Amino acid sequence: MSEINDRLELVIPHGKLVVGQAYCPNGCSLMAPARRIHGHPAIHLRATYQQRSGSIYLDPVCGLHDNISEIEVPPREVVEFACPYCGISLDDPDVTCSECAGSMFALRLPEGAHVEACRRNGCPGHRLRVITGEQLMQRLFDSLGMDSIL
Ligand SMILES: [Zn+2]
Ligand SMILES: [Zn+2]
Repeated sequence: MSEINDRLELVIPHGKLVVGQAYCPNGCSLMAPARRIHGHPAIHLRATYQQRSGSIYLDPVCGLHDNISEIEVPPREVVEFACPYCGISLDDPDVTCSECAGSMFALRLPEGAHVEACRRNGCPGHRLRVITGEQLMQRLFDSLGMDSIL
Protein backbone atom coordinates (compact mmCIF):
# COMPACT_ATOMS: atom_id res chain seq x y z
CA MET A 1 0.00 0.00 0.00
CA SER A 2 2.93 2.33 0.60
CA GLU A 3 4.49 1.43 -2.73
CA ILE A 4 2.85 4.50 -4.19
CA ASN A 5 5.33 7.22 -5.04
CA ASP A 6 5.68 9.38 -1.95
CA ARG A 7 6.12 12.71 -3.67
CA LEU A 8 3.45 14.51 -5.53
CA GLU A 9 4.02 17.86 -7.13
CA LEU A 10 1.22 20.05 -8.31
CA VAL A 11 1.26 23.23 -10.26
CA ILE A 12 -1.26 25.53 -8.66
CA PRO A 13 -3.59 27.38 -10.99
CA HIS A 14 -3.17 31.08 -10.33
CA GLY A 15 -5.56 32.50 -7.79
CA LYS A 16 -7.09 29.13 -6.93
CA LEU A 17 -5.35 28.30 -3.67
CA VAL A 18 -5.23 30.49 -0.60
CA VAL A 19 -2.63 29.65 2.03
CA GLY A 20 -4.64 29.67 5.26
CA GLN A 21 -1.90 28.39 7.54
CA ALA A 22 1.87 28.29 7.08
CA TYR A 23 4.75 27.47 9.40
CA CYS A 24 8.52 27.79 9.50
CA PRO A 25 10.60 24.56 9.90
CA ASN A 26 10.56 25.14 13.68
CA GLY A 27 6.78 25.37 13.78
CA CYS A 28 6.23 29.13 14.21
CA SER A 29 2.97 30.24 12.64
CA LEU A 30 3.72 32.75 9.90
CA MET A 31 0.23 34.12 9.39
CA ALA A 32 -0.42 37.79 10.11
CA PRO A 33 -4.18 38.19 10.72
CA ALA A 34 -3.78 41.95 11.18
CA ARG A 35 -2.31 42.36 7.69
CA ARG A 36 -4.74 41.39 4.97
CA ILE A 37 -4.12 41.04 1.26
CA HIS A 38 -7.09 40.26 -0.98
CA GLY A 39 -9.08 39.90 2.25
CA HIS A 40 -6.93 37.07 3.62
CA PRO A 41 -4.28 37.15 6.36
CA ALA A 42 -0.86 37.71 4.81
CA ILE A 43 2.21 35.52 5.34
CA HIS A 44 4.77 37.35 7.47
CA LEU A 45 8.45 36.68 6.67
CA ARG A 46 11.72 38.47 7.23
CA ALA A 47 13.40 39.39 3.98
CA THR A 48 17.05 40.32 3.50
CA TYR A 49 18.35 42.03 0.41
CA GLN A 50 21.98 43.11 0.37
CA GLN A 51 22.61 44.67 3.81
CA ARG A 52 19.02 45.50 4.60
CA SER A 53 16.35 43.34 6.14
CA GLY A 54 12.77 43.96 7.11
CA SER A 55 9.35 42.40 7.25
CA ILE A 56 7.66 41.28 4.09
CA TYR A 57 4.00 40.30 3.89
CA LEU A 58 3.39 37.78 1.14
CA ASP A 59 0.17 37.54 -0.77
CA PRO A 60 -1.50 34.35 0.55
CA VAL A 61 -3.27 33.80 -2.76
CA CYS A 62 -0.97 31.55 -4.81
CA GLY A 63 -0.17 33.09 -8.15
CA LEU A 64 -0.97 36.65 -7.10
CA HIS A 65 1.96 38.75 -5.99
CA ASP A 66 0.58 41.77 -4.21
CA ASN A 67 3.23 41.52 -1.53
CA ILE A 68 3.91 44.30 0.95
CA SER A 69 7.61 44.78 1.69
CA GLU A 70 9.30 47.07 4.19
CA ILE A 71 12.52 46.97 2.22
CA GLU A 72 12.82 47.99 -1.35
CA VAL A 73 13.90 45.23 -3.71
CA PRO A 74 14.44 45.98 -7.40
CA PRO A 75 12.64 43.70 -9.87
CA ARG A 76 14.44 40.42 -10.66
CA GLU A 77 16.70 40.67 -7.61
CA VAL A 78 16.97 37.66 -5.29
CA VAL A 79 15.84 37.96 -1.68
CA GLU A 80 16.68 35.77 1.32
CA PHE A 81 13.73 34.74 3.46
CA ALA A 82 13.73 33.80 7.13
CA CYS A 83 11.22 33.24 9.92
CA PRO A 84 10.58 36.60 11.65
CA TYR A 85 10.14 34.84 15.02
CA CYS A 86 12.99 32.33 15.39
CA GLY A 87 15.22 33.51 12.53
CA ILE A 88 15.60 30.14 10.76
CA SER A 89 16.27 30.41 7.03
CA LEU A 90 13.43 29.38 4.75
CA ASP A 91 15.66 28.94 1.72
CA ASP A 92 15.46 25.52 0.14
CA PRO A 93 18.69 24.87 -1.78
CA ASP A 94 17.40 21.55 -3.13
CA VAL A 95 14.81 23.00 -5.45
CA THR A 96 15.19 25.27 -8.42
CA CYS A 97 12.63 27.51 -10.01
CA SER A 98 11.17 26.16 -13.25
CA GLU A 99 10.77 29.71 -14.55
CA CYS A 100 14.20 31.22 -13.93
CA ALA A 101 16.36 28.34 -12.54
CA GLY A 102 16.98 30.38 -9.40
CA SER A 103 16.73 28.96 -5.91
CA MET A 104 13.49 28.83 -3.99
CA PHE A 105 12.20 29.04 -0.44
CA ALA A 106 9.68 26.76 1.21
CA LEU A 107 6.87 27.18 3.70
CA ARG A 108 5.32 24.33 5.64
CA LEU A 109 1.59 23.88 5.29
CA PRO A 110 -0.72 21.63 7.33
CA GLU A 111 -0.89 17.89 6.47
CA GLY A 112 2.78 17.62 5.51
CA ALA A 113 2.44 19.76 2.41
CA HIS A 114 4.88 22.47 1.39
CA VAL A 115 4.54 25.44 -0.86
CA GLU A 116 7.69 26.53 -2.64
CA ALA A 117 8.19 29.88 -4.27
CA CYS A 118 10.95 31.58 -6.17
CA ARG A 119 13.21 33.99 -4.26
CA ARG A 120 13.53 36.31 -7.25
CA ASN A 121 11.38 39.40 -6.89
CA GLY A 122 8.56 39.29 -9.44
CA CYS A 123 9.22 35.75 -10.67
CA PRO A 124 5.96 33.78 -10.85
CA GLY A 125 7.62 30.42 -10.12
CA HIS A 126 5.90 28.48 -7.34
CA ARG A 127 4.46 25.05 -6.71
CA LEU A 128 2.78 22.96 -4.09
CA ARG A 129 4.54 19.83 -2.90
CA VAL A 130 2.63 17.18 -1.03
CA ILE A 131 4.56 14.51 0.83
CA THR A 132 2.06 11.73 0.98
CA GLY A 133 2.48 9.60 4.05
CA GLU A 134 0.07 6.73 4.32
CA GLN A 135 -2.16 8.61 6.75
CA LEU A 136 -2.33 11.59 4.47
CA MET A 137 -3.12 9.33 1.52
CA GLN A 138 -5.94 7.84 3.53
CA ARG A 139 -7.30 11.26 4.42
CA LEU A 140 -7.01 12.41 0.83
CA PHE A 141 -8.83 9.32 -0.42
CA ASP A 142 -11.47 9.65 2.30
CA SER A 143 -12.15 13.23 1.43
CA LEU A 144 -12.26 12.37 -2.27
CA GLY A 145 -14.47 9.36 -1.70
CA MET A 146 -11.93 7.08 -3.36
CA ASP A 147 -11.36 4.51 -0.59
CA SER A 148 -12.97 1.77 -2.65
CA ILE A 149 -9.92 1.57 -4.94
CA LEU A 150 -7.50 0.72 -2.11
ZN1 LIG B 1 10.28 30.18 13.30
ZN1 LIG C 1 12.09 32.10 -10.54
